[in-house]
Amino acid sequence: MKYNIALIPGDGIGPDIVREACRALDAVGLRFGHAFVYTEVLAGGAAIDSTGHPLPEETLETCKKADAVLLGAVGGPKWDTLPGSLRPEKALLGLRGGMQVYANLRPALMLKQLADACPLKPEVIGDGLDILIIRELTGGIYFGDRGRSDDNRSAWDTEAYSWDEIARIIKIGFESALKRKKRLCVVDKANILETSRLWREVAESMKHNYPEVVLSYMYVDNAAMQLVRNPGQFDVIATSNMFGDILSDEASQITGSIGMLASASLGDSGPGLYEPIHGSAPDIAGQDKANPLATILSCAMMLRYSFNLEKEAWTIERAVERVLDDGWRTGDIAGTSVGSLGDKLVGTTKMGDLIVDAIGKV
Ligand code: NAD
Repeated sequence: MKYNIALIPGDGIGPDIVREACRALDAVGLRFGHAFVYTEVLAGGAAIDSTGHPLPEETLETCKKADAVLLGAVGGPKWDTLPGSLRPEKALLGLRGGMQVYANLRPALMLKQLADACPLKPEVIGDGLDILIIRELTGGIYFGDRGRSDDNRSAWDTEAYSWDEIARIIKIGFESALKRKKRLCVVDKANILETSRLWREVAESMKHNYPEVVLSYMYVDNAAMQLVRNPGQFDVIATSNMFGDILSDEASQITGSIGMLASASLGDSGPGLYEPIHGSAPDIAGQDKANPLATILSCAMMLRYSFNLEKEAWTIERAVERVLDDGWRTGDIAGTSVGSLGDKLVGTTKMGDLIVDAIGKV
């Protein structure tokens, strides 16, 4: 089977990690008889330099026509002084809105091989950490009406949600929970916000369809605290755009390794957008130091969610575990293995080689 993938390498370490992710996909293709065809497009700083705009029309059109989109990362100090509408990060909002990917799935998974990287005490972590945060991505306060008064002495941002916008996130929440530990927690601020009260009403109206799932609610301030106090209580969290933005970063930090965490952004139909959760890491760009595993694991999510290739997704995930089991580490996760690391510290390309090799063996 042939799959068309739009590639957005982006800026900083983006091109390096996307290159390794494509090699991993190609290894999967070779093993299972699929062809992945890539069309590379510009976004972010690279697009600003070449076209003057962070998200050229052609990029969005190519992405919308693809079977899936793989994004490295965008941004960097070179473009930091540009006005807001011309900054590289503007491409992210444009892509999410333009592709209508309204649900962002971020697994915060701590692999046992990297337990030492977790900043929490072992007794807090217990058996490990495996949380799926589902963040609403195209609505709420990030997309609501905003402005300034004429005298520039007040400003506003508006949080607005419709029943349907909430229902499609809650549905993904219930369905994801069904495939996991069957617990869904809706995180909100229903003691204050009317939109949060609507989130609860929607969830209540849907729960009879999912009798096996235990539905609960938590205020966002408490959730932020519980994530570091007792993260094991969470299975699936569904929440609004802004709360999800903040909590998913917190959850990922708990796992201790930003270079390991993948994400998927999905809509009703059309391609999904897959990307590591980290940024363009300008401090290590071009030095063969970037960890490509978050991007490679994003490809596993692509295989699972966009192409329905579960065995192939599993193969990538096991390959990553196997390479970590063997003690191989990029710099960001070095020092997290029990054995001696000296000769097992590798760069981006070598880590890619190891994954390709493991994909052929697991
Ligand atoms: P960052 O995630 O790029 O880097 C934070 C730290 O983590 C740095 O020390 C970096 O070296 C390290 N790091 C990140 N990814 C790594 C990897 N794969 N391997 C090894 N180390 C890794 O965050 P930042 O420094 O706040 O942002 C840098 C730029 O990226 C900014 O321009 C920011 O706007 C942009 N950004 C883009 C995205 C995106 O494209 N989705 C997301 C976040 C930040």
